[in-house]
Amino acid sequence: MTPVPPGAQPSASPNDRPLRKAIAPGKLMIAGKWRDAETGETTDNLDPTTEAVTTKIAKGTVNDANAAVDAAYDAFEEGPWGRMHHEERAKILFRMADLMDERAEDLAIREAMDMGMPYKDFREIIMPHCSGLFRFFGGLAMSAMNGSYRSSYEADIRILTRRQPLGVVAAITPFNFPLALSCSKIAPALAAGNTIVHKPASDTPLTALAMAQIALDAGVPEGAYNLITGPGGSIGDALVANPKVDKIAFTGSTPVGQGIMRKGADTMKHLTMELGGKSPNIVFADANIESALQAAFWGIFWNKGEVCVAGSRILVERAIYDEFVERLSVMARNAVLGDPLDPATMIGPIASRGEYDKVLRYVQAGKESAARLSAGGGTRTINGKGLFIEATVFADATNDMTISQEEIFGPVVPIIPFDTEDEAIRLANATSYGLASGIQTGDMGRALRLADRIKAGTVWLNTWHKYHPNAPFGGFKMSGFGREQGSEALESYTQYKTVWANLG
Ligand code: NAP
Repeated sequence: MTPVPPGAQPSASPNDRPLRKAIAPGKLMIAGKWRDAETGETTDNLDPTTEAVTTKIAKGTVNDANAAVDAAYDAFEEGPWGRMHHEERAKILFRMADLMDERAEDLAIREAMDMGMPYKDFREIIMPHCSGLFRFFGGLAMSAMNGSYRSSYEADIRILTRRQPLGVVAAITPFNFPLALSCSKIAPALAAGNTIVHKPASDTPLTALAMAQIALDAGVPEGAYNLITGPGGSIGDALVANPKVDKIAFTGSTPVGQGIMRKGADTMKHLTMELGGKSPNIVFADANIESALQAAFWGIFWNKGEVCVAGSRILVERAIYDEFVERLSVMARNAVLGDPLDPATMIGPIASRGEYDKVLRYVQAGKESAARLSAGGGTRTINGKGLFIEATVFADATNDMTISQEEIFGPVVPIIPFDTEDEAIRLANATSYGLASGIQTGDMGRALRLADRIKAGTVWLNTWHKYHPNAPFGGFKMSGFGREQGSEALESYTQYKTVWANLG
């Protein structure tokens, strides 16, 4: 992450906002063809910086969703994808990775104008990770997925284990990190030989449109990759109900995930649930203070806090509490808010009006609580437009406050004091979530000891926001189950078959 410059000023907005020719705006991709929604209806896609319309998005219907599933089902049953030699599939995944890198600028502009993610962060951090996922899972697809054993009880018996694809995977993805969280599902699902129906979030579908074209251009057979846009409450629900869908790979809020689990039970869906978080960042007095401040700042304010693993509760040892609060507050006041296409921008706009209003309700709850507003708390605009919320710090917070327990999903953080290691771990675990966590300390023995006790799927020691295609990612408790990335992810898109052969 770029160090926070002292005394940074708000950045100016560049006037040139070049949405590269949107690939088939207002269309769905079903069976390898771009087509209109059944009703011809579209919705406006808005840029959160200018609040202007960028393009039209097809408003798919339940019939469209079922047509996409039929295409994926037929492609799985009849088509070459699932039966293709895994080396051939791997080559196509590698081609997708190369095409993504070639089209990186277009993808970055889409993400900036759709989700408000700073262009520079996307190019430097997100893009290599996304194409890396296709290379990683393409590589895994080439490794042997099957085994053969001899029975130790009967000499003539051979046991052949086969890992086979599940069939049709519906990937339902959230508005934040649209490309990364789509790739983390689509790459392993395709690598294992499944076919795909992708349903991106209604607020941020632009990179999903580009990815459907990339899949087609890379040689994924028609029907093996389908894209359907429209309201989650109807078409997402239809995907979950459809008996031809074998797995729902879901990232989103915990309540929607719970609804999918309930409904999915009717047709015995395989599930991966990547849900919400309220991740604790524990800062001990013996930490390198500069490094701890950077971890705390970027932990919460990267991508304006619209990050499931944001360090959204900071616990600070009392001996350095006042100094830490003051210095983090200065950094927050100096953070550069601005157009995500401007390379100087550190904090872009909130992705949508609905999210903006929700975050401001939490800011208000913080102001009405016993916590002390130490930085931010207001909004900004550029030329009177834009959904910008200041980097906001609440000091003297307690762990039971609403702002300490609920997922705000914005650039807002409470800071809570603690006195002992045991108190820190008790507070860290006192939440229904268990997605990520961090420990900032100069004592690596303590860091590793506490890493064992924290109930979270990711623990960052003296850092924050590190990711790799090889590193399993997922939650404990109400943050969900199943893992993305790593070989565990590939396995979760397969099922075992055991074949017994009598050679006698
Ligand atoms: P969301 O409201 O739960 O929506 C997620 C997706 O589900 C969207 O595509 C949405 O479509 C769709 N959906 C809505 N209702 C549905 C239904 N009844 N059946 C099937 N699908 C439905 O979440 P969000 O606001 O987009 O994303 C933010 C949340 O995601 C936060 O809680 C965050 O922590 C979590 N998240 C978790 C991770 C992780 O890895 N654990 C990563 C990122 C985000 P529409 O957009 O059309 O409503």
